[in-house]
Amino acid sequence: MKNTRNHRIILFPLIAAVSLICTTACGRSSKDDRFERYRSQMVKNQIISRGISDSRVLAAMRTVPRHLFVPENYQRFSYADRPLPIEENQTISQPYIVALMTELAELKTTDKVLEVGTGSGYQAAVLAEICDSVFTVEINATLAQRAKTQLKDLGYQNIFFKTGDGYLGWNEHAPYNAIIVTCAPSDLPDQLASQLIDGGRLVIPHGPATAQNLIIYRKQNGYLIAEKSIPVRFVPMVDDSGKSY
Ligand code: SAH
Repeated sequence: MKNTRNHRIILFPLIAAVSLICTTACGRSSKDDRFERYRSQMVKNQIISRGISDSRVLAAMRTVPRHLFVPENYQRFSYADRPLPIEENQTISQPYIVALMTELAELKTTDKVLEVGTGSGYQAAVLAEICDSVFTVEINATLAQRAKTQLKDLGYQNIFFKTGDGYLGWNEHAPYNAIIVTCAPSDLPDQLASQLIDGGRLVIPHGPATAQNLIIYRKQNGYLIAEKSIPVRFVPMVDDSGKSY
C-alpha cells in the first residue's frame, strides 16, 4: 500500500515533466515559433509603420501563416516586404498591399465579401479572419484547386470557391458588402459594380500595366464615388483565352 503511494508521488511529477517537454517539442515546433515571430515583425515594421491601424486587419495579418501560401523554395522570404512568385506565373501580393486593401474595404464582422483572383488563397484567408463569409473566384483551375485544398486544410469554413472568370463577379451570391479585386483590368467591370450593395466598398487596381492605381469605389444611392489610393503593380485580369481585359 505504502509502496503504491510512493510510486504515485514520484510518477506524477515525472509524467507532468514529460508531457510539458512533449507539448513544447512536438506540439509547436520551434519553426512555428520562428514564423510567428517573423509575422509579428512584419506587422510592426511593414504595416503599422506605414499607417495601417485597423486592429482586426493587424490581428489577421499576425494570424494567417503566409509561409504556407508560397512555394517551398520561397518560404524563407515569405515575411519579406515584397510580392513573391507563386505557381502558374502568378504572384502573391506584398504583405502591406494585402493589409492596405483589407483596411480600405472597411470590413465588418457581418460582411459578405467577394474576392476576384484567389491566387494562393492568402488574401482570402486574411478576409475570412475578419468577416462573415468570403466568395473567391479564380480563373486558373490549378491555382483554384490548390488554394481550396490549403484553406480547407487550415480549417477555414467561411470561404467559398469558384473557378471561372471573375470579370463577371459571382452573381448568385450578390450583393456583396465589399469587393476586393487582386488582378488588374483596364477599367472597372460593370458586373462587379452592380454586385456591390448600396453603402458597400469596392477596392480594385486598374489602368495599364505601367500606370495602375488602387481605387476605392463607394456605392451611395446607386452612384459610385471613386477615390484614388496609391500606384500599384498587379498581374492583369485576363479572360478565358488569356487576353487582358
Ligand atoms: N489574391 C491572391 C493574389 C492574386 S494574383 C493571393 O492572395 O495570393 C492574381 C490572380 O488573379 C491570379 O491567380 C490570376 O490567375 C487571377 N486572375 C486573373 N484574371 C482573372 C479573372 N478574370 N478572374 C479571376 N481570377 C483572375
